Amino acid sequence: MVPPYRGPAAPDPIELTQALIRCPSVTPADAGALGVLEAALTPLGFRCERMRFEAPGTAPIDNLHARIGTGRPHLCFAGHTDVVPPGDETRWRFPPFEGRIAEGRIWGRGACDMKSAVAAFAAAAGRFLAARGPGFGGSISLLITGDEEAEAVNGTVKVLQALAARSEAIDACIVGEPSSSEAVGDTMKIGRRGSLTGRLTVRGVQGHVAYPNKADNPLPRLVQMLAALGPGPEIDQGSAHFDPSTLAITTIDVGNPAANVIPAEGRAVFNIRFNDTHTAESLGAWLRQRFDAVGGDYALELHSGADSFLTAPGELTGRVAGAVERVTGRRPAFSTSGGTSDARFVKDYAPVVELGLVNATIHKTDENVPVEDIEMLARIYQAVLEDSFPEEG
Ligand SMILES: [Zn+2]
Repeated sequence: MVPPYRGPAAPDPIELTQALIRCPSVTPADAGALGVLEAALTPLGFRCERMRFEAPGTAPIDNLHARIGTGRPHLCFAGHTDVVPPGDETRWRFPPFEGRIAEGRIWGRGACDMKSAVAAFAAAAGRFLAARGPGFGGSISLLITGDEEAEAVNGTVKVLQALAARSEAIDACIVGEPSSSEAVGDTMKIGRRGSLTGRLTVRGVQGHVAYPNKADNPLPRLVQMLAALGPGPEIDQGSAHFDPSTLAITTIDVGNPAANVIPAEGRAVFNIRFNDTHTAESLGAWLRQRFDAVGGDYALELHSGADSFLTAPGELTGRVAGAVERVTGRRPAFSTSGGTSDARFVKDYAPVVELGLVNATIHKTDENVPVEDIEMLARIYQAVLEDSFPEEG
């Protein structure tokens, strides 16, 4: 009988989470976080490569691409080690970069979003490799960026471009963002809404309020244009996997301190979170149609933050959901709600789902996660690996 393969010990997901939290990696600082991860992955046989990118006007960012195996299928885990700022540290029960365990929970910035998921995947990969050895019949990689929480220009999007340029194809990707709502694995994201920001400027002619016929007040038109955006007309009715698109006006600015002057222009900003029945272009047309109906001189500037996308329920979603169910006894719900994530970049290269911890405390003071949830997530990720590389025979 062939003795089971005994590779190097898998990292402990709890200790690794603590070690990562102790690096105050507020974007764009790395603060040693990728080095901690690299030190955990290298002994497992991962080839670790730092990929540093920069662009004018942005901070240079280190990313880590770690891969074991050269064959297909290639399963990629994508995540980030950067975190949002802790805010006023005196308001935290425990210092945000201490990684304290208390009351059965790990406390600290990044405990939930998403250093623990990165640690859980490293542990899962270590356990999987310890059982199966490096000849498991494919490739596993981690694509870990330090640029997710801020502008996300020197992170995942550029690593993916670089991998594609050297023909490193990815067959499936799991993003470890905290997707769950009440219990680990109760929800996975199979798509995301798109985000479009509009800046509307309505122009007129300045003048004295006593002689409005000699001026052209842009504000009534601005009000009419905004009223045409809702509440009232729905942008759409939603689709099979998405809620209806939503629009929120975020500011209306005139900045006119004088009560006796008709201003020359007024501005408003709004954001649309849209489903897969729309693109940024179709929404631009939807908006201009409403604004043109009001008429007058206006300018509309649109900034597309992300397109919506959907990984249609199929092989990958079934594989991941099956692994979750085997470990937790719960079948995850498929969701497309929430903000954007780096999955919006991955979707151009491979089918992608997001599966991670409960998102109750992300970006908050006293961010924390139950220790047992991290272990649970590691077991889920390990089950995904087992199902992605089934043993032959
Ligand atoms: Zn995150």
